[in-house]
Amino acid sequence: MRFRGELASSPENLKRAHSMSMNESRGEHRAPWECTFAKEEKNKCRPGIPPKSNQQYFEILCLCVLQAGLGWGMVRKNWSKLRKGFYDFNIERLATTKVNELFKREGVMKNKNKVKAIIDDAREFQNTVQEVGSFSNFLRSLKGMGDKEAIRELAQRFNHVGEYTAEYYLHSVGYWE
Ligand SMILES: [Zn+2]
Repeated sequence: MRFRGELASSPENLKRAHSMSMNESRGEHRAPWECTFAKEEKNKCRPGIPPKSNQQYFEILCLCVLQAGLGWGMVRKNWSKLRKGFYDFNIERLATTKVNELFKREGVMKNKNKVKAIIDDAREFQNTVQEVGSFSNFLRSLKGMGDKEAIRELAQRFNHVGEYTAEYYLHSVGYWE
């Protein structure tokens, strides 16, 4: 059985959620918001299904950006509305969209910095894929550095991705599996 409680994005809350899940037989989750990840115990919790395409990798990145500072409860509750508003997080569509146009759409979060970040990140994601062929190739290329450096690399590359969000993302896509 997986932990399905409401998670907030603070490390303390994640830690608490994690300790609640310690009694569960499998600390596995299928979506980032089900994560019971605690930084120092990431081996105790694992994403169930790793992303299979660039598109899936990008969608999880968007979810991480959107929840930052607000918590996963918000993303989980509004997931289908957010997906619709953000063109199903389609990379090509978002990369060619203007901030004001996207901002006006129903279901899109009324936070211009985040809307701009999603567009910037779609473009950067495209560049990254173009550089190395696929996003999973890119993540594999990070394996040559230490965890801290990999987290920093991701945080520097993408807009509105801090180191905590970057670490959460890497864990959510099974980077450490
Ligand atoms: Zn997890």
